[in-house]
Amino acid sequence: MTASTRSISILGSTGSIGTNTLDVLTHLGGRETFEVVALTGASNIALLAEQAIAHGARLAVTADESQYVALRDLLSGTGIEVAAGQSGLMEAANAGADMVMAAIVGTAGLAPTLAAARRGADIALANKECLVSAGDLFVAAVRQGGGRLLPVDSEHNAIFQVLEESQRHAVERVILTASGGPFRTFTREQMANVTVETARAHPNWSMGLKISIDSASMFNKALEMIEAKHLFGLAPEQVEVIVHPQSIIHSMVGYSDGSVLAQLGSPDMRHAIGYALEFPRRAKLPVERLDFARLARLDFEAPDEARFPALRLARLAMTRGGVQGAVLNGAKEVALDAFIAGDTGFLSMAQITEAVMEELAHLPPAASMDDVFAADLEARQRAKARLG
Ligand code: NAD
Ligand code: MG
Repeated sequence: MTASTRSISILGSTGSIGTNTLDVLTHLGGRETFEVVALTGASNIALLAEQAIAHGARLAVTADESQYVALRDLLSGTGIEVAAGQSGLMEAANAGADMVMAAIVGTAGLAPTLAAARRGADIALANKECLVSAGDLFVAAVRQGGGRLLPVDSEHNAIFQVLEESQRHAVERVILTASGGPFRTFTREQMANVTVETARAHPNWSMGLKISIDSASMFNKALEMIEAKHLFGLAPEQVEVIVHPQSIIHSMVGYSDGSVLAQLGSPDMRHAIGYALEFPRRAKLPVERLDFARLARLDFEAPDEARFPALRLARLAMTRGGVQGAVLNGAKEVALDAFIAGDTGFLSMAQITEAVMEELAHLPPAASMDDVFAADLEARQRAKARLG
């Protein structure tokens, strides 16, 4: 460890973003560059224990309380502290690392990420649900804490890379690229009967199960539209989406003089992770270099909101404002879990979400995080009631 060593905790280290983050840390120089403070996972405790030992973590936390004893046994004699459950996640968030990688999936990540933001840690944010559900309150918490908010979602990381702070006033629009997912060319009739196995097979990116299915329904892009609005302080009409099947352009910013700046790269999350970890420096990263002659072409298509209603629902949530992001996300998470469990069809995810959004359109804006959690819970209960 040297004077320039920084410290990091990873919430959700056993997932797709989490394992990629540990890989990037190794490439950046391992413990000489970043001291790993806390790692958290859920059910995969064997991997969590292995990571904690390999990276010299001080604390390992499983969100699943029933796994506490098993994790403690796996780590006995190592000196690594063990904790579990919600209080364990909060302990990890508060364990004092300079930076926290927020890589838990879903609203489960909101409370610990918020705690890390409030105590002033730099937040590398993959867990987009924080911004979708808590929006401006989350941004305000980061600001009050005094840490930086570094987007890890590849689209937002791309925008962050090309959005010059001094030219912020001249931003006309941001253009989020979307691969279109595995059902880009499917009709609604074809989508009606798709399975979890076909929905999870993303054409370009390798990601966790839930975000892969959200990419197939374009709910992922819907969440990203709301995420962009809060992250960059945009009006709903400044957030555009373009389908770009090759996923080489990761997103773009359009300025008032008509210029459009884009960030390009191979579809590898280690790029966005490395950029967030090393910002404002650029590190040497092990991602594949683009070969334009081999790529030959980049294609674009207008998104089809009739086939992918999630995009329309995002626009509705953005224009209504208030807690509508929390309602959209809470209802969607319940419907997504039901689709994964085989209890409902692919198309009903958007139908259930829209119905719950209509039922809860009257909810007032959130005065505090309690209102956000209440709206999330209410949306979940209504979505469950619709599933029967
Ligand atoms: P994943 O499913 O691969 O991993 C999720 C992590 O969260 C795991 O460590 C898991 O143990 C933990 N976890 C799951 N449920 C939990 C709970 N209830 N409480 C506490 N921990 C829990 O997911 P992922 O693909 O790595 O995505 C993580 C986040 O990053 C998501 O918000 C996703 O939208 C976002 N994201 C992911 C990618 C990607 O390439 N995977 C890209 C952009 C954004
Ligand atoms: Mg993304």
